[in-house]
Amino acid sequence: MIGRELPAVEDIVPVADIAIQAPIPRPRRNIFCVGKNYREHAKEFAHSGFDSSAAQGAVPDAPIVFSKLPETVIPHGAEILLDPGVTEAVDYEAELAVIVGTAGRNIPQSEAMNHVWGYTIVNDLTARDLQSRHSQWLIGKSQDTFCPMGPAAVTADEIDLADTPVRCRVNGEMRQESNTALMIFDVPAIIAAISNGITLMPGDVIATGTPAGVGIGFTPPKYLRAGDRVAIEIGGIGTLENPVAEA
Ligand code: MG
Repeated sequence: MIGRELPAVEDIVPVADIAIQAPIPRPRRNIFCVGKNYREHAKEFAHSGFDSSAAQGAVPDAPIVFSKLPETVIPHGAEILLDPGVTEAVDYEAELAVIVGTAGRNIPQSEAMNHVWGYTIVNDLTARDLQSRHSQWLIGKSQDTFCPMGPAAVTADEIDLADTPVRCRVNGEMRQESNTALMIFDVPAIIAAISNGITLMPGDVIATGTPAGVGIGFTPPKYLRAGDRVAIEIGGIGTLENPVAEA
């Protein structure tokens, strides 16, 4: 902790006996998300035919920022729900998420880390067919249950952004294996861009983008199916695991 003491714990409760809630179960406003922030993922997305963004196919010159509705957040262990009447192309995206601690506007990169409270993991679930149909991504990214978050939040000092592994397994099969060092726009650059005229608030969550290995990167694509289990592991935080079920 950064100069803040945790309250004393009198009775230790085994983690198996509790239901873990998301670190921020209902963010006060939309979750900020960065798109195409790892080169290999930008390439696989371009080749998938699903990329409807303005910077189609290219590594972007400035961060691509979109958002997810706060109601998408579910905790570690909760079911990701697939609604076959709405989408048939649901994909996982393993991401490090920044939790803002101190408000700020027009934050220069040199001061950005002073605004970071800490980090958690999010799974930026995406309905690829809806993402493609609508040129903006809100609907495809904001389906109910589409933002598993957790299992824990850690303070900023727990994570070395220059070397933190990011992995995603589906049913035990490694799909994504990368490192936060490979982000195109690093955390200070992301914070500077988003706070450019928008006041960042304590408790804001910023998902920093996903590396290569998402379902649409495979031929044929490997979309999620009911019965799957998605486990995202980020060094220093833990593993966020969620089962997939039909809505
Ligand atoms: Mg994403």
